[in-house]
Amino acid sequence: MHSQEFDKLLNTVRRIATDIAANHAADVDAQARFPHETLAALREARVLSANVPIESGGAGCSMVQLATLCATLAQACASSAMVLAMHYIQVACIARHSTESAFFRSYLCELVEQQFLLASMTSEVGVFGDTRSSVCAVERANGRFKLDKDATTGSYCAEADAILVTCRRAADAAASDQVMVLVRKSDCTLTQTTSWDTMGMRGTRSPGFKLVSGGGEEQIVPGAYADSSAQTMVPYSHILWSALWWGIAAEAVGRAANFVRGQARRTPGTVPPTAVRLAEVSARLQTMRSNWFAVAGEFDRVDATPGGMEELTRIGWALRFNNLKVSSSEMAPQIVHMALQIVGILGYKNDSPFALSRLYRDALSGSLMVSNDRIAAKTASMLLVFKDE
Ligand SMILES: Cc1cc2nc3c(=O)[nH]c(=O)nc-3n(C[C@H](O)[C@H](O)[C@H](O)COP(=O)(O)OP(=O)(O)OC[C@H]3O[C@@H](n4cnc5c(N)ncnc54)[C@H](O)[C@@H]3O)c2cc1C
Repeated sequence: MHSQEFDKLLNTVRRIATDIAANHAADVDAQARFPHETLAALREARVLSANVPIESGGAGCSMVQLATLCATLAQACASSAMVLAMHYIQVACIARHSTESAFFRSYLCELVEQQFLLASMTSEVGVFGDTRSSVCAVERANGRFKLDKDATTGSYCAEADAILVTCRRAADAAASDQVMVLVRKSDCTLTQTTSWDTMGMRGTRSPGFKLVSGGGEEQIVPGAYADSSAQTMVPYSHILWSALWWGIAAEAVGRAANFVRGQARRTPGTVPPTAVRLAEVSARLQTMRSNWFAVAGEFDRVDATPGGMEELTRIGWALRFNNLKVSSSEMAPQIVHMALQIVGILGYKNDSPFALSRLYRDALSGSLMVSNDRIAAKTASMLLVFKDE
């Protein structure tokens, strides 16, 4: 998207963040409820089609632009930003891997028009946190599919217009021979199986669900999930999540900075001791931002080159995305913790303008959302064979 048009879109998201998301964030967190008001405003402003290609009627935003939108919204309400990020990840999986499919090309146009919200179901009872394995399998007969899944965690599945579900390609396929299926709300029944009373990210509404679904065979995303995972799901998730975790950290540092400036105003002519800690934490925050911004920019550059999609399957890229995810998810709660040390009791209190509880709890989800240990184990085995290019 051209930078002038993007500035307009960014200003719209800024306004939604400050006027709507920030006002409802405490209630969304307290009630562990879906951020309806924010999503309605994003729909109204057509933000949900930001990464649909221009030829399908969307805005065609780059990774840097999407990450900037998610980071902006996260400063007001991290759950809303996570919903937006997850939706963009699913849209990208369709847009980048279904160009040959008339059904999906038309679906993207419909998504732009109706501002559909897409959710994701990769988790499953029996595979633990391994998104590259499935127990369930899609069955095909007479141009129709049938797919049932017992998912452990399904963010906003009850509120979404459709869910992209990973599964085995067929009943006799190996656990890692997966495809993705677009399941529309009207194609399925969802039965909630667990609760979502969590420390943070409470507005993502992510309990377990039993899905029973059926539909047209053309709703199976063409190609292997192995490719969509490496070329799209992993890069989009790790970059957009990192940007939004930075947004949480930036909000915490912003609150700490307001606190320190307040102290300074009370003692003119002196620098409060907390200002040194603020200097330290602002350096950490800058490092965190440079990290996601750089990887997003590199992604955009390689993606725009011929053969870019193939390039993304190389080990060097997988390492870069893994490293970004692990380091950002570790840094976010550390930065919020540093902000808390600056603000002290007024950050610890829930009814203070400097309150940091929600930000801290939301930031803690990052290292679990695809376990950092699991990612580190994959990184470790790749490093054994990786030769720096
Ligand atoms: C806010 C939030 C939203 C989510 N939304 C969705 C969603 O919309 N759709 C969806 O499908 N899923 C979603 N998830 C689930 C997520 O993607 C993971 O599947 C889930 O968090 C993993 O659960 P787990 O910790 O039990 O898994 P595991 O990865 O199995 O981890 C369990 C434990 O084993 C350890 N472990 C695992 N592998 C290794 C290893 N190789 N070496 C050492 N230790 C290891 C981990 O450290 C951890 O302690 C969401 C999760 C969160 C937090």
